[in-house]
Amino acid sequence: MNSVDARMGIVLALRKAGVIDPLVLDAMETIPREVFMSAGFEDRAWEDAALPIECGQTISQPFVVGFMSAALELSGREKVLEIGTGSGYQTAILSKLARRVYTLERYRTLLRHAQSRHEALKLTNIISKCSDGALGWPDQAPFDRIIFTCATPHRPDALLAQLAPAGILVAPVGPGGVQELLRYRLRKDGVFEEEALMDVRFVPLLPGVARDA
Ligand code: SAH
Repeated sequence: MNSVDARMGIVLALRKAGVIDPLVLDAMETIPREVFMSAGFEDRAWEDAALPIECGQTISQPFVVGFMSAALELSGREKVLEIGTGSGYQTAILSKLARRVYTLERYRTLLRHAQSRHEALKLTNIISKCSDGALGWPDQAPFDRIIFTCATPHRPDALLAQLAPAGILVAPVGPGGVQELLRYRLRKDGVFEEEALMDVRFVPLLPGVARDA
């Protein structure tokens, strides 16, 4: 299968799963995933699979990236926080759908690569920092949307506290292996509504900033 057919296959799978937002589908078609792959994996960019990147991490599965982006219900005006920049692929998709994207990564090496990819693609509404995502980005809070691209073992209370009114947080919640993708919505009365979207497999949220990578 060539890369155009493979991309179309992912867009079709998203449509089948009920993702019909034309902006999400358009972002998935226009952001070149091959740019975000590690050396040696470029020609597998359009496989619908999570694939290895540096520091023992993974670039997320394209279907899941599209699904999570749609789950954030973006209109283009939001300030979004991403926990786990990784390759920078999910960040790039979000940059097409939101006003500004803040992203945190615990590995400097990954962050540097992601930053140079975003620069090369002229995505100028991304602000990134090497920091422990478990703490969020208090100086920049509140955020209209928050997305975890690593699995948090429990309900992410510290990050829920950084949501703006009517905000949405999407995160894989659960232990290693399989997690539930949960969507939290902050209601007007201050209560969080919780909704399970599907089962997913993500690398875990790790403690602190990596010292030597
Ligand atoms: N969105 C990425 C997915 C990368 S995998 C992509 O599309 O490529 C999840 C990322 O979360 C990894 O890069 C991992 O290093 C990062 N991560 C794990 N724990 C973290 C923490 N405490 N703070 C910040 N980033 C973290």
